[in-house]
This record gives sequence, structure tokens and C-alpha cells, in this order.
Amino acid sequence: MSDRSRALRAAALSWRASRFTVATALPGGDLALYNSLTGGLARIDATSEAFVVTAAALHAGFDGMPQGALAALALEGFFVPEGRDERDEVDALCAAERAAAQDRLELILMPTEQCNFRCVYCAQTFEKGRMKRDVIDGVVALIAARAPHLRYLKIGWFGGEPLTAPEVIAEIGRAARRICAEHGVIYSSGMATNGSLLTPDVFAMLIENEVRRFQITLDGTPDHHDRLRLMGDRKRGTFATILNNLRAMKATDEWFGVTLRVNFDAESAQAMTPFLDFLETEFAGDARFHIDFHPVGRWGGPQDDALAVCDAQDSAQRSIELAGAAIGRGLGDAALRGRLSVGGSKCYAGRPYSFVVGSDGALYKCTVAFDEPLNQIGALTPSGELVIDADKHARWIGRGAEEDAGCRACSFAPACQGDACPLARIRSGERACPSVKSQIGAAVAALAPARGRS
Ligand code: SF4
Ligand code: SF4
Repeated sequence: MSDRSRALRAAALSWRASRFTVATALPGGDLALYNSLTGGLARIDATSEAFVVTAAALHAGFDGMPQGALAALALEGFFVPEGRDERDEVDALCAAERAAAQDRLELILMPTEQCNFRCVYCAQTFEKGRMKRDVIDGVVALIAARAPHLRYLKIGWFGGEPLTAPEVIAEIGRAARRICAEHGVIYSSGMATNGSLLTPDVFAMLIENEVRRFQITLDGTPDHHDRLRLMGDRKRGTFATILNNLRAMKATDEWFGVTLRVNFDAESAQAMTPFLDFLETEFAGDARFHIDFHPVGRWGGPQDDALAVCDAQDSAQRSIELAGAAIGRGLGDAALRGRLSVGGSKCYAGRPYSFVVGSDGALYKCTVAFDEPLNQIGALTPSGELVIDADKHARWIGRGAEEDAGCRACSFAPACQGDACPLARIRSGERACPSVKSQIGAAVAALAPARGRS
């Protein structure tokens, strides 16, 4: 079809707001727009002409070719031609996710289940140690067996503290790189680490093995961080060590990404302004550093009753406010932006190609509930075979977004796909929506701040 006939055809159409467009009035009167199928974000100034036009179009749609502000908004998917069935597109996304299991493998490996920290909120039991020889061999054999059929392999290192077993990471990382290079598989790797052992030498080893994405926790100002994140001998003082390592990473020219995870409780939440000032001084303007705020929860650890947790609704709001404040200070927005992207609020546990391998070869889906029998879905054999209880696995990779009536009607479905937390869904039988869904307006405001007005 020619450009002209395409234009004529479009001109004959009526347009309406996409079912995945969420419009929120912000406190100052601006309009926040988000589309979960395209990840589009827009903020419409309350004093602008576009505001009136957009508000009317959201309410009643419009006829003919989109013009001016509406053209830009239609391009971002906020408006769609009448009659377009966008639910089919979500079903297609979910089907593509299932099909991706043919050529994609994501392994979350636990090179050790020991940790050199004892954070007050931690729920891990530290009963298992370093990854056993036959498990290391099994991981390498699995990668070698699957590589001829893969396009992507991703390894995430988790623990315990993975950097207490760097030799396991180096051995498997080297083998994975070699096998992927032989078969043309795109290989990427990341790590959740407390950062205390991430010295320049260790960092260089990780970069050599393509470990380039890091989640490192800094729980507020040094006082609050050191109160929450204790050494294994319960001594305080981990903040300074982690900061030194972060500064050394920042001083390199390497390409990497660090998400600084900030867990806040009711006490540290009161001291976030000086912490944000500090983060701005250290990391603002360096696109490799991003901030992600999370409320401390009662995650099943022995000190749960003593934790000063924040109220759920307050903490959802506070997390977004803090993210907005950090972004406003020039810190990276990838964590929040990612959560609003297609599939960005779906947990890896809901993905059919994602498996957690314990240091003893036990196979899980979720990195939170290791003791739950429903999370123990099988084992990796020394010859590299994944022996999986298919019925258990099926419960994690259900069809929430396609079959749950609430998810089918949900404006956030492309981002969450009904799987923000499969564990919660399995436990309760109810869908579990991500907290960002209730804070969409604030999230858009954080990511698309108001332009200065004269
Ligand atoms: S299933 Fe839920 S608890 Fe487990 S990792 Fe995913 S979001 Fe976390
Ligand atoms: S779990 Fe909640 S946010 Fe996710 S698709 Fe279902 S209704 Fe929407």
C-alpha cells in the first residue's frame, strides 16, 4: 500500500484512547499519560493548548488523521484506530514469551549459599555452602547441550554472597563465554552482590567474564546502612567498604550498569534527603548508576518482628517519590523506567526459560521462598539435564494475563502480564499486582518532570 493510500485510509478512521493508556491528573493540574503496551510516557502541561485537545480526545476519541499533539501521542500508542483489538497483542506477547523458551535460557546460579553479611531483614538460612563440583560440571554440561539451539543465554549470580566464591564464577563464566562464542549465542551476565568484596581485581575478573550488571545495596546514610547491614560477626561498618568499591568501579572506563538498591525502613525513610544529596555528589551524571528504592519487608527472617517496616500503601508511594527525587538529582532512571516497559514488571519466576540453580543442584523458580516445596521444582544432574516436575513448573508459568478476568481487563497487563509475583499468586490463588501500578501518575511525573514555566 502506498503512503498516500495509507494516509487516506488512516484519515477515514476514528481514533480512541488505547485500552492500555492510563491518564492521571497530577497535583499541579498537569496530565500524566502512560501506555503499558508501548512504554510511552507523556506529561501534558495544564496551561497548554494540547491539554484541552488531549483531554477531549481521551474522553470521546476523534475522527480522521491525528494532527499536532494528537499525532505525537498516537505515534506513542496513546491513541489507536477504532476497532483495533489490543488484547490480541497482549496474548501474542504471552505466546511469544512461551515460544522464547526454545531459544532462550536464563540461569540464576548460587555459587555459594553462604554470606559474609547478616542483614537484619534477611530470610536466608545459610545452611548450604559453596557450589559442589558435580553441580559446576552440570551447569557447564547444560549450557553445552543447549547452546546449539540458543540465541540468548543469561546468567545471574546470586547467593548468599556470590563473591565469597569467585572461583566458581570465573570457572563457569569462562566456560559459558567459550561455548556461547562457539555457537553464536548472545551471552550476558549480572550479579546481585552486597558489594563488600567487589574490589578492583574482582571487578576486572567479572568484566572479563561479561558480568556487567550489578545490583548493590546501600540502605541509606552510613548510620542507617550500618544498622541494617551487619557483618557476619554482627559488627558495623560495611558502608565505607562498599562505597570504596563503587568509587573504584566509577573510576574505570568499563561499560557496566549498577542498580543501587536502597531498602528503607520507617527510621531510615526519615533521613533520605541527606542520603540523596550524598548520592548526587557521588554518582549524578554517570549513566552507569541507577537507583531503586524498596521498603524493608517482613521477608521471613528471624528478626522480622523487630523490623520497623513501613505501611504498604505509604511505602509504595514513598518508593516512587524517592525515585523521582533521585532522578531529579541527575541519577539514572532505568530501574523505574524498566518497570513500566513491556514485561518489565513481570517476575523472572514467571518466565518459562528461567531457573534458579542452588549450590547443591536443587532447582527453583523464585529466589525468595527456597523452603517452600512448591518452589522446589527439580534438580540439575551432573550430566547437565534439568529434571523438572512439570506440574509444579506449570504453576509458576501460568496464563494470568490471558485467563484471569481481572488481568484481561487491566490497563497495566502488557507490563505485568499477570505475573508480577507468581509466588503470591500460587500462595493465595489471587493475582498480585505490582505496587507501581497504583502509583502510575507519580511514576510518570518522576520520569517526565514538569518543564519550567515562565
Ligand atoms: S515470585 Fe514473587 S517473591 Fe519470588 S522472586 Fe518473583 S516477585 Fe519475588
Ligand atoms: S496482576 Fe494486577 S497489574 Fe498484573 S496484569 Fe493482573 S490485574 Fe494487572
